Amino acid sequence: ETDCITPYLDQDDEIGHLAGAIEKLRVAMKERGYLQRMHEMSQKMEHMAHHDSLTGLPNRVSFGQALDKRVSEIHQDEKPFNLLLIDLDNFKPVNDTFGHKAGDELLISVAQRLQLLLGPNDIAARLGGDEFAILQHVSDNAIKEANRLAKRIIRALSTPFTWSTHTFSISCSIGITTAPYQGNNTSTLMINADLAMYASKHHGRGCFHFFEDGMVMKHTHSLFINQEIIDGIDNKEFELHYQPIINLEDESVYGYESLIRWNHPTKGLIYPDYFINIAENSGLIVRLGEWIIRQSCEAAAKWPERIRVAVNISAYQLHSPGLVDVIKDALRISQLSAQRLEIEITESEKLDKSIALPVLQEIRSLGIEIAMDDLGTGYAALDYLLIYPFTRIKIARTLVDKLQQDNASQYLIVMLIQFAHKYNMSVTAEGVETAQQRDILRDIECQNVQGYFFSYPLREREVLSAFAKEVIEEGLCNV
Ligand code: C2E
Ligand code: MG
Ligand code: MG
Repeated sequence: ETDCITPYLDQDDEIGHLAGAIEKLRVAMKERGYLQRMHEMSQKMEHMAHHDSLTGLPNRVSFGQALDKRVSEIHQDEKPFNLLLIDLDNFKPVNDTFGHKAGDELLISVAQRLQLLLGPNDIAARLGGDEFAILQHVSDNAIKEANRLAKRIIRALSTPFTWSTHTFSISCSIGITTAPYQGNNTSTLMINADLAMYASKHHGRGCFHFFEDGMVMKHTHSLFINQEIIDGIDNKEFELHYQPIINLEDESVYGYESLIRWNHPTKGLIYPDYFINIAENSGLIVRLGEWIIRQSCEAAAKWPERIRVAVNISAYQLHSPGLVDVIKDALRISQLSAQRLEIEITESEKLDKSIALPVLQEIRSLGIEIAMDDLGTGYAALDYLLIYPFTRIKIARTLVDKLQQDNASQYLIVMLIQFAHKYNMSVTAEGVETAQQRDILRDIECQNVQGYFFSYPLREREVLSAFAKEVIEEGLCNV
């Protein structure tokens, strides 16, 4: 009981002396216990200051110190080393959809897998969020060794993770710099590795890049745009325009395709080719895409029953969990029936079948139609048509463009239409700009067309006033 002061201390006899000795012992013991605890606590604090509490890996501070140390050694021993920055792809959707607990478990597993790949002199750290780094010791050939490690990391992290009953598939984007060739101080090395990492994001993720000089401009450019996209969503700068999809038989409107536009405060109206790619690479497309789905359903719910809406969905959105829930919720809130919604998918070669197929099947099972967009642009995607539950193909403008000059593309379109009909898919031809194109397409039994010949994409109020006019005209007919 080191907390109790010893009794009989003031007694001037043997008991008092004994009490005095016991009291000295008590104080010393208390002091020692205290010192011991202080020591343990300071060790804990030291550990906390230098380690990430979740994964137990060194954190940004301690990694920075290790990097500083290696940089100073390099001035003496001139032995190169590699710095690898690893950013997880698709982490945020896991976190957002399944909650922080799942996200935490995933990060812990990532840390464990990374550690298994390290050499005895390598250091792995978690820099924060879903960003990790490795300081790789080089024994012989820096490039070769970085190559080998990066490949192994990508393989290790793309093996699915399981948490409770869920399976998550993620990947990672890696940027690599080699000291001293691509930087001889800590901050340059970190910035250059970051730029190289962004290059990997740009190249579709799940890959690695070594830093190269030209990366600087590109990176700052897209970083800037990403921030502007975030602000743009908050400031409601995005709007959807709707291009009519026409029934060729009677030239009535079958539906509208929603196409995003950006009303930029200083640059004016910006088209999607400028920013969709960047939003896809940064993952922002998930947020933007959710807005697009909700907004499209809300708009279409105000249209006549027979008119559908087609929404473009990027492959990246299909890979992120939560898409089906967003669609269901958008339908529920807008009260639009699922049969009036169609989604359009481009770049099917980017789809990861193990993830995209069940998602598309679920979407299809809701009664939503699924179109394969831009068929005929480069990639021969015919086998994809049979893998995924497509209900429509959209023939790319580039093919329609050549319709008048070129027998080969006419033949190809005929083949595509026959193929589609054989498998119960409808066909839309895109980018119809002339009456001749329309006539040829009608002759070869293409059901739907879209293009400037019929209409440019319209603002929401223009669509609504077209319907209003229709109602008035119908009213007049009835009279
Ligand atoms: P897309 O889905 O194939 O859309 C058709 C594009 O062709 C639209 O360009 C449309 O304005 C344009 N177009 C339509 N008719 C004609 C024509 O007769 N002649 C010519 N020259 N062009 C025509 P836009 O709106 O610039 O969109 C470009 C692409 O950006 C779209 O191609 C689509 O892949 C993507 N995109 C647009 N909106 C969204 C969106 O909301 N989400 C996603 N993920 N992607 C979108
Ligand atoms: Mg489209
Ligand atoms: Mg298209």
